[in-house]
Amino acid sequence: MTSSLLLGLIGDGISASRTPRMHENEGAAHSIPTIYRTIDVTEPKRADASLEELLTAAIRLGFDGLNITHPFKQQVIGLLDEVDPVAARIGSVNTVVIDETGATKGFNTDVTGFAAGFRAGLDGAATEAVVQIGAGGAGRAVGFALAELGVGGLIIADTDVDRAAGLAADIGRVDSVGTRARAIGLDELEEAAASANGIVNATPVGMKAYPGTPVDTTVFGADTWIADVVYFPLETQFLAEARAKGCRTLDGSGMAVNQAIDAFELFSGQKADPQRMRETFLSFGA
Ligand code: NAD
Repeated sequence: MTSSLLLGLIGDGISASRTPRMHENEGAAHSIPTIYRTIDVTEPKRADASLEELLTAAIRLGFDGLNITHPFKQQVIGLLDEVDPVAARIGSVNTVVIDETGATKGFNTDVTGFAAGFRAGLDGAATEAVVQIGAGGAGRAVGFALAELGVGGLIIADTDVDRAAGLAADIGRVDSVGTRARAIGLDELEEAAASANGIVNATPVGMKAYPGTPVDTTVFGADTWIADVVYFPLETQFLAEARAKGCRTLDGSGMAVNQAIDAFELFSGQKADPQRMRETFLSFGA
Protein backbone atom coordinates (compact mmCIF):
# COMPACT_ATOMS: atom_id res chain seq x y z
CA MET A 1 0.00 0.00 0.00
CA THR A 2 1.09 3.58 -0.72
CA SER A 3 2.80 4.96 2.42
CA SER A 4 2.80 8.62 1.35
CA LEU A 5 1.88 10.69 -1.70
CA LEU A 6 3.66 13.56 -3.38
CA LEU A 7 1.33 15.16 -5.91
CA GLY A 8 1.03 18.34 -7.93
CA LEU A 9 -1.09 20.35 -10.33
CA ILE A 10 0.57 21.88 -13.39
CA GLY A 11 -1.30 24.76 -14.99
CA ASP A 12 -1.66 28.47 -15.60
CA GLY A 13 -3.18 30.68 -12.88
CA ILE A 14 -4.11 27.88 -10.48
CA SER A 15 -3.30 29.47 -7.12
CA ALA A 16 -6.98 29.33 -6.01
CA SER A 17 -7.49 25.66 -6.97
CA ARG A 18 -9.44 23.55 -4.46
CA THR A 19 -7.90 20.33 -5.74
CA PRO A 20 -4.79 20.33 -3.46
CA ARG A 21 -6.90 20.50 -0.29
CA MET A 22 -9.24 17.73 -1.49
CA HIS A 23 -6.30 15.35 -2.04
CA GLU A 24 -4.42 16.30 1.13
CA ASN A 25 -7.51 15.90 3.33
CA GLU A 26 -8.49 12.63 1.72
CA GLY A 27 -4.93 11.27 1.99
CA ALA A 28 -4.84 12.15 5.70
CA ALA A 29 -8.18 10.40 6.23
CA HIS A 30 -6.63 7.24 4.73
CA SER A 31 -3.51 7.63 6.91
CA ILE A 32 -1.49 8.43 3.79
CA PRO A 33 0.53 11.62 4.41
CA THR A 34 -0.10 13.62 1.23
CA ILE A 35 1.60 16.73 -0.07
CA TYR A 36 -0.04 18.35 -3.09
CA ARG A 37 1.69 21.35 -4.66
CA THR A 38 0.39 23.80 -7.26
CA ILE A 39 2.99 24.14 -10.01
CA ASP A 40 1.79 27.40 -11.54
CA VAL A 41 3.64 28.36 -14.70
CA THR A 42 2.80 32.05 -14.14
CA GLU A 43 5.06 32.16 -11.05
CA PRO A 44 8.35 33.96 -11.79
CA LYS A 45 10.48 31.01 -10.62
CA ARG A 46 9.04 28.93 -13.47
CA ALA A 47 9.44 31.59 -16.16
CA ASP A 48 10.47 29.92 -19.42
CA ALA A 49 10.06 26.39 -17.99
CA SER A 50 8.50 24.08 -20.54
CA LEU A 51 5.88 21.46 -19.70
CA GLU A 52 8.42 18.78 -20.55
CA GLU A 53 10.93 20.25 -18.09
CA LEU A 54 8.32 20.40 -15.32
CA LEU A 55 7.16 16.84 -15.96
CA THR A 56 10.74 15.54 -16.01
CA ALA A 57 11.53 17.42 -12.80
CA ALA A 58 8.46 15.95 -11.08
CA ILE A 59 9.46 12.42 -12.12
CA ARG A 60 13.06 12.93 -10.93
CA LEU A 61 11.94 14.42 -7.63
CA GLY A 62 9.79 11.39 -6.92
CA PHE A 63 6.27 12.74 -7.50
CA ASP A 64 3.66 9.96 -7.48
CA GLY A 65 1.20 11.79 -9.69
CA LEU A 66 0.13 15.03 -11.29
CA ASN A 67 -3.04 16.74 -12.34
CA ILE A 68 -2.72 18.73 -15.53
CA THR A 69 -4.92 21.67 -16.34
CA HIS A 70 -5.28 24.56 -18.77
CA PRO A 71 -3.40 25.04 -21.11
CA PHE A 72 -1.55 21.71 -21.04
CA LYS A 73 -4.16 18.94 -21.19
CA GLN A 74 -3.55 18.17 -24.85
CA GLN A 75 0.15 18.97 -24.97
CA VAL A 76 1.00 16.54 -22.16
CA ILE A 77 -0.17 13.54 -24.17
CA GLY A 78 2.92 13.52 -26.37
CA LEU A 79 5.17 13.46 -23.29
CA LEU A 80 3.69 10.36 -21.61
CA ASP A 81 4.78 6.72 -21.79
CA GLU A 82 1.21 5.45 -21.92
CA VAL A 83 -2.25 6.98 -22.28
CA ASP A 84 -5.52 5.39 -21.20
CA PRO A 85 -7.73 4.68 -24.27
CA VAL A 86 -10.53 7.03 -23.11
CA ALA A 87 -8.10 9.93 -22.65
CA ALA A 88 -6.44 9.16 -25.98
CA ARG A 89 -9.82 9.20 -27.74
CA ILE A 90 -10.68 12.60 -26.27
CA GLY A 91 -7.18 13.93 -26.85
CA SER A 92 -6.98 15.33 -23.31
CA VAL A 93 -5.25 14.19 -20.11
CA ASN A 94 -5.88 15.74 -16.68
CA THR A 95 -4.31 13.05 -14.48
CA VAL A 96 -0.85 11.47 -14.74
CA VAL A 97 0.18 8.54 -12.57
CA ILE A 98 3.94 8.13 -12.12
CA ASP A 99 5.04 4.66 -11.00
CA GLU A 100 8.11 3.77 -8.93
CA THR A 101 10.21 3.33 -12.09
CA GLY A 102 9.27 6.83 -13.27
CA ALA A 103 6.95 5.56 -16.03
CA THR A 104 3.96 7.83 -16.72
CA LYS A 105 0.37 6.98 -17.65
CA GLY A 106 -2.26 9.58 -18.50
CA PHE A 107 -5.98 9.49 -17.75
CA ASN A 108 -8.96 11.81 -18.10
CA THR A 109 -11.05 12.02 -14.94
CA ASP A 110 -12.93 15.13 -16.16
CA VAL A 111 -15.01 12.77 -18.32
CA THR A 112 -15.67 10.22 -15.59
CA GLY A 113 -16.11 13.12 -13.14
CA PHE A 114 -18.81 14.88 -15.16
CA ALA A 115 -20.58 11.55 -15.76
CA ALA A 116 -20.50 10.64 -12.04
CA GLY A 117 -21.71 14.11 -11.05
CA PHE A 118 -24.53 13.86 -13.58
CA ARG A 119 -25.63 10.42 -12.34
CA ALA A 120 -25.63 11.67 -8.75
CA GLY A 121 -27.29 15.04 -9.37
CA LEU A 122 -29.61 14.48 -12.33
CA ASP A 123 -30.48 10.82 -11.88
CA GLY A 124 -33.21 9.67 -14.26
CA ALA A 125 -33.17 12.89 -16.32
CA ALA A 126 -34.33 12.49 -19.93
CA THR A 127 -31.40 12.49 -22.36
CA GLU A 128 -32.95 11.93 -25.79
CA ALA A 129 -32.06 15.49 -26.87
CA VAL A 130 -29.36 17.52 -25.15
CA VAL A 131 -27.83 20.88 -26.06
CA GLN A 132 -24.25 21.58 -25.04
CA ILE A 133 -22.88 25.11 -25.23
CA GLY A 134 -19.09 25.33 -25.31
CA ALA A 135 -16.64 22.90 -26.89
CA GLY A 136 -13.35 24.00 -25.33
CA GLY A 137 -11.28 22.17 -22.71
CA ALA A 138 -14.14 21.37 -20.32
CA GLY A 139 -16.60 21.02 -23.19
CA ARG A 140 -14.67 18.20 -24.83
CA ALA A 141 -14.81 16.21 -21.59
CA VAL A 142 -18.52 17.03 -21.15
CA GLY A 143 -19.35 15.98 -24.72
CA PHE A 144 -17.69 12.59 -24.37
CA ALA A 145 -19.25 12.12 -20.92
CA LEU A 146 -22.73 12.88 -22.31
CA ALA A 147 -22.13 10.31 -25.04
CA GLU A 148 -21.05 7.73 -22.41
CA LEU A 149 -24.19 8.60 -20.45
CA GLY A 150 -26.27 7.51 -23.44
CA VAL A 151 -27.50 10.85 -24.78
CA GLY A 152 -29.46 10.21 -28.01
CA GLY A 153 -29.01 13.45 -29.92
CA LEU A 154 -26.32 15.92 -28.83
CA ILE A 155 -26.37 19.41 -30.34
CA ILE A 156 -23.17 21.39 -29.75
CA ALA A 157 -22.88 25.17 -30.09
CA ASP A 158 -19.78 27.31 -29.68
CA THR A 159 -18.85 30.81 -30.84
CA ASP A 160 -16.04 28.95 -32.60
CA VAL A 161 -18.16 26.85 -34.99
CA ASP A 162 -15.19 24.76 -36.14
CA ARG A 163 -14.49 23.75 -32.54
CA ALA A 164 -18.09 22.58 -32.09
CA ALA A 165 -17.97 20.71 -35.39
CA GLY A 166 -14.66 19.08 -34.46
CA LEU A 167 -16.04 17.79 -31.16
CA ALA A 168 -19.21 16.48 -32.83
CA ALA A 169 -17.09 14.65 -35.42
CA ASP A 170 -14.78 13.19 -32.75
CA ILE A 171 -17.75 11.88 -30.75
CA GLY A 172 -19.20 10.43 -33.97
CA ARG A 173 -15.96 8.49 -34.54
CA VAL A 174 -16.46 6.47 -31.35
CA ASP A 175 -18.18 3.25 -32.37
CA SER A 176 -19.20 2.21 -28.87
CA VAL A 177 -21.61 5.14 -28.30
CA GLY A 178 -24.87 5.57 -30.16
CA THR A 179 -24.98 9.35 -29.73
CA ARG A 180 -25.74 11.40 -32.83
CA ALA A 181 -23.69 14.56 -32.29
CA ARG A 182 -23.92 17.62 -34.52
CA ALA A 183 -22.81 21.22 -34.37
CA ILE A 184 -25.03 24.25 -34.86
CA GLY A 185 -24.40 27.97 -35.19
CA LEU A 186 -25.31 30.33 -32.35
CA ASP A 187 -28.19 31.65 -34.50
CA GLU A 188 -29.86 28.22 -34.12
CA LEU A 189 -29.21 27.90 -30.39
CA GLU A 190 -32.48 29.27 -28.99
CA GLU A 191 -34.59 27.01 -31.19
CA ALA A 192 -32.52 23.95 -30.18
CA ALA A 193 -32.67 24.93 -26.49
CA ALA A 194 -36.45 25.32 -26.66
CA SER A 195 -36.96 21.66 -27.58
CA ALA A 196 -34.13 20.01 -25.60
CA ASN A 197 -34.55 17.74 -22.56
CA GLY A 198 -31.51 19.37 -21.04
CA ILE A 199 -28.88 22.05 -21.60
CA VAL A 200 -25.26 22.04 -20.41
CA ASN A 201 -23.20 25.19 -20.14
CA ALA A 202 -19.53 24.40 -20.81
CA THR A 203 -18.51 28.00 -21.56
CA PRO A 204 -17.04 30.44 -19.00
CA VAL A 205 -20.28 32.50 -19.17
CA GLY A 206 -21.50 32.95 -15.61
CA MET A 207 -18.05 33.62 -14.16
CA LYS A 208 -17.47 37.10 -12.75
CA ALA A 209 -15.47 38.09 -15.81
CA TYR A 210 -18.14 36.70 -18.18
CA PRO A 211 -21.53 37.72 -16.75
CA GLY A 212 -24.86 36.62 -18.21
CA THR A 213 -26.33 33.35 -19.41
CA PRO A 214 -25.15 31.30 -22.40
CA VAL A 215 -28.70 31.17 -23.77
CA ASP A 216 -31.85 33.18 -23.05
CA THR A 217 -33.60 31.28 -20.25
CA THR A 218 -37.08 32.36 -21.37
CA VAL A 219 -36.88 29.99 -24.37
CA PHE A 220 -37.15 26.76 -22.33
CA GLY A 221 -39.68 25.47 -19.83
CA ALA A 222 -39.64 24.00 -16.32
CA ASP A 223 -39.24 20.43 -17.61
CA THR A 224 -35.80 21.21 -19.09
CA TRP A 225 -32.86 20.26 -16.85
CA ILE A 226 -29.85 22.60 -16.72
CA ALA A 227 -26.23 21.76 -15.89
CA ASP A 228 -23.36 24.20 -15.54
CA VAL A 229 -19.64 23.39 -15.36
CA VAL A 230 -18.70 26.84 -14.03
CA TYR A 231 -17.71 26.55 -10.37
CA PHE A 232 -16.49 30.09 -9.62
CA PRO A 233 -19.24 30.88 -8.58
CA LEU A 234 -21.26 27.70 -8.05
CA GLU A 235 -24.53 29.59 -8.31
CA THR A 236 -24.40 31.08 -11.81
CA GLN A 237 -27.04 33.38 -13.22
CA PHE A 238 -27.98 30.54 -15.63
CA LEU A 239 -28.67 28.12 -12.75
CA ALA A 240 -30.45 30.74 -10.65
CA GLU A 241 -32.81 31.70 -13.48
CA ALA A 242 -33.45 28.06 -14.38
CA ARG A 243 -34.17 27.10 -10.77
CA ALA A 244 -36.55 30.07 -10.43
CA LYS A 245 -38.50 28.57 -13.34
CA GLY A 246 -38.65 25.21 -11.55
CA CYS A 247 -35.99 23.39 -13.62
CA ARG A 248 -33.78 20.63 -12.17
CA THR A 249 -30.22 21.91 -12.02
CA LEU A 250 -26.67 20.63 -11.53
CA ASP A 251 -23.84 22.97 -10.60
CA GLY A 252 -20.13 22.72 -11.45
CA SER A 253 -19.16 21.11 -8.14
CA GLY A 254 -20.23 17.65 -9.35
CA MET A 255 -17.58 17.56 -12.07
CA ALA A 256 -14.91 19.26 -9.92
CA VAL A 257 -15.35 16.93 -6.95
CA ASN A 258 -15.74 13.73 -8.95
CA GLN A 259 -12.66 14.37 -11.12
CA ALA A 260 -10.70 14.58 -7.86
CA ILE A 261 -12.35 11.44 -6.44
CA ASP A 262 -11.35 9.45 -9.53
CA ALA A 263 -7.83 10.94 -9.57
CA PHE A 264 -7.33 10.13 -5.87
CA GLU A 265 -8.16 6.51 -6.57
CA LEU A 266 -5.66 6.42 -9.45
CA PHE A 267 -2.93 8.03 -7.29
CA SER A 268 -3.49 6.04 -4.10
CA GLY A 269 -5.27 2.83 -5.09
CA GLN A 270 -7.84 3.72 -2.39
CA LYS A 271 -11.48 4.73 -2.78
CA ALA A 272 -12.13 8.33 -1.83
CA ASP A 273 -15.12 9.18 0.35
CA PRO A 274 -17.40 11.28 -1.93
CA GLN A 275 -19.09 13.05 0.99
CA ARG A 276 -15.77 14.03 2.59
CA MET A 277 -14.32 15.21 -0.73
CA ARG A 278 -17.43 17.28 -1.35
CA GLU A 279 -17.30 18.81 2.14
CA THR A 280 -13.67 19.78 1.60
CA PHE A 281 -14.54 21.34 -1.75
CA LEU A 282 -17.46 23.29 -0.26
CA SER A 283 -15.41 24.40 2.77
CA PHE A 284 -13.87 27.05 0.50
CA GLY A 285 -17.29 28.70 0.25
CA ALA A 286 -19.51 28.96 -2.84
P1 NAD B 1 -12.06 27.10 -22.85
O1 NAD B 1 -11.65 28.49 -23.10
O2 NAD B 1 -11.14 25.97 -23.18
O3 NAD B 1 -13.43 26.80 -23.65
C1 NAD B 1 -14.55 27.65 -23.58
C2 NAD B 1 -15.32 27.51 -24.90
O4 NAD B 1 -16.54 28.25 -24.78
C3 NAD B 1 -14.56 28.07 -26.11
O5 NAD B 1 -14.58 27.09 -27.14
C4 NAD B 1 -15.33 29.33 -26.47
O6 NAD B 1 -15.31 29.59 -27.86
C5 NAD B 1 -16.72 28.98 -26.00
N1 NAD B 1 -17.56 30.13 -25.65
C6 NAD B 1 -17.24 31.19 -24.87
N2 NAD B 1 -18.30 32.01 -24.75
C7 NAD B 1 -19.31 31.45 -25.46
C8 NAD B 1 -20.64 31.82 -25.70
N3 NAD B 1 -21.20 32.93 -25.18
N4 NAD B 1 -21.41 31.01 -26.48
C9 NAD B 1 -20.89 29.89 -27.02
N5 NAD B 1 -19.61 29.48 -26.84
C10 NAD B 1 -18.83 30.26 -26.05
O7 NAD B 1 -12.49 27.05 -21.31
P2 NAD B 1 -12.68 25.74 -20.43
O8 NAD B 1 -11.38 25.32 -19.87
O9 NAD B 1 -13.47 24.75 -21.22
O10 NAD B 1 -13.54 26.31 -19.22
C11 NAD B 1 -14.89 26.67 -19.34
C12 NAD B 1 -15.51 26.81 -17.96
O11 NAD B 1 -15.51 25.54 -17.33
C13 NAD B 1 -14.72 27.73 -17.02
O12 NAD B 1 -15.61 28.45 -16.22
C14 NAD B 1 -13.94 26.76 -16.16
O13 NAD B 1 -13.63 27.28 -14.88
C15 NAD B 1 -14.95 25.64 -16.05
N6 NAD B 1 -14.39 24.32 -15.71
C16 NAD B 1 -15.03 23.61 -14.76
C17 NAD B 1 -14.57 22.35 -14.42
C18 NAD B 1 -15.25 21.58 -13.34
O14 NAD B 1 -14.69 20.59 -12.88
N7 NAD B 1 -16.47 21.95 -12.97
C19 NAD B 1 -13.46 21.81 -15.08
C20 NAD B 1 -12.84 22.57 -16.08
C21 NAD B 1 -13.31 23.83 -16.40
